[in-house]
Amino acid sequence: MEKVEYLVVGCGLSGAIIAERIASIEKQKVLVIDKRDHIGGNVYDYKQYGITVHKYGPHVFHTNNKEVWDYLSKFTEWYYFMYRVKAFIDGKEVNIPFNLDSLYKVFPNTLAQKLEEKLLNNFKFNSKIPILELKNSSDNDLQFLAEYIYEKVFLGYTVKQWGVKPEDIDSLVSARVPIYISKDDRYFTDKYQAIPKNGYTKMIENILNNPLIEVRLKTDFKDVKNKIDYDIMYFTGSIDELFDYKHGKLPYRSLNIEFKKYDKEFMQSGPQINYPENYDYTRSVEYKYYLDEKSDKTILSYEYPCEYKDGKNERYYPIPNEDNQKLYKKYLKELLKLNNARRTGNPRWIYVLGRLGDYKYYNMDEVVEKALMLAKEKL
Ligand SMILES: Cc1cc2nc3c(=O)[nH]c(=O)nc-3n(C[C@H](O)[C@H](O)[C@H](O)COP(=O)(O)OP(=O)(O)OC[C@H]3O[C@@H](n4cnc5c(N)ncnc54)[C@H](O)[C@@H]3O)c2cc1C
Repeated sequence: MEKVEYLVVGCGLSGAIIAERIASIEKQKVLVIDKRDHIGGNVYDYKQYGITVHKYGPHVFHTNNKEVWDYLSKFTEWYYFMYRVKAFIDGKEVNIPFNLDSLYKVFPNTLAQKLEEKLLNNFKFNSKIPILELKNSSDNDLQFLAEYIYEKVFLGYTVKQWGVKPEDIDSLVSARVPIYISKDDRYFTDKYQAIPKNGYTKMIENILNNPLIEVRLKTDFKDVKNKIDYDIMYFTGSIDELFDYKHGKLPYRSLNIEFKKYDKEFMQSGPQINYPENYDYTRSVEYKYYLDEKSDKTILSYEYPCEYKDGKNERYYPIPNEDNQKLYKKYLKELLKLNNARRTGNPRWIYVLGRLGDYKYYNMDEVVEKALMLAKEKL
């Protein structure tokens, strides 16, 4: 049996950062395995026709956390990028989040003006108001607007995205769909917004660039768990898998992402167009916009949400509801039991982290923050 002190399962952002911290702080060797044939996990990107394509859907880095920003900045230069997203509603491209300008795109001028005034009178300028809050207002016009946004922006998109009725979705997810009381058309408002200048894969490669770190790809934990002995494991895969699904499988939503190349310079007016109403896909993404890359061709992806099926597609989004949280907590208890057993002879210690380990949708900056925090506590 091969023996290592530190084993990291998963070479996404979480795994790469933990490995880097172990190598830099502890000055110890660390073995990183990943079942995929590439590093980077879901932020993996590659070049085609001079265009950087994000294999697992578009990724724009955004954060207010300076520590996270400074940490990643050691491994990449940035292309500063303010994300702007449009939705195709009633045949028109409208700013998303729906904002004061969007009113004038979809309604006649007088109505748009009236709604704008009411919004400004009732809510703080520059605030993001969750759609549900608007719906609960006593003003008929605001209720009408809430209903419009709910129907045209939220309902169709959410039903497609999650394959369920919006009422069945955790209110945290519904709250992600706001109306923006502003003319600011940026999708995110964080202080730092950018994309690694040479791509995410290169950034991860730089994070892993330490002679103490060994990466083994195409290596699934389940195939090697009886062949590699470790003292401490950082596991960034799905927590149910770690315990052989003994309490059942944690459900995920997946995506079928279809990539198309066109022999044209541009296909759409910006990087991302959402389709809440028509079409089976939820959004189309034109990749050359992200790093302002020049090519006489263009590459787009179309996302078709679907159910996650083990071995058939990828785990993309944990499904946040009470039952799934209960199931997740059962696995957390198993982890505690396992680690407690250490005191009675089990020499191993396991930490579980990342979007799959915590069964939580995390933006990239949250994943970085959590990995850095864990490293600070444990190393
Ligand atoms: C479609 C989509 C778009 C997104 N866009 C954004 C965005 O614009 N901005 C943003 O901030 N965030 C975005 N995110 C979130 C971002 O992708 C995640 O926060 C981040 O990639 C999570 O990193 P991670 O290392 O925790 O997980 P992952 O990237 O999933 O890495 C886990 C790794 O573990 C490996 N693994 C799993 N099980 C095993 C096993 N048994 N054996 C070996 N290896 C295993 C996997 O192959 C994978 O490489 C998006 C997410 C999705 C789904």
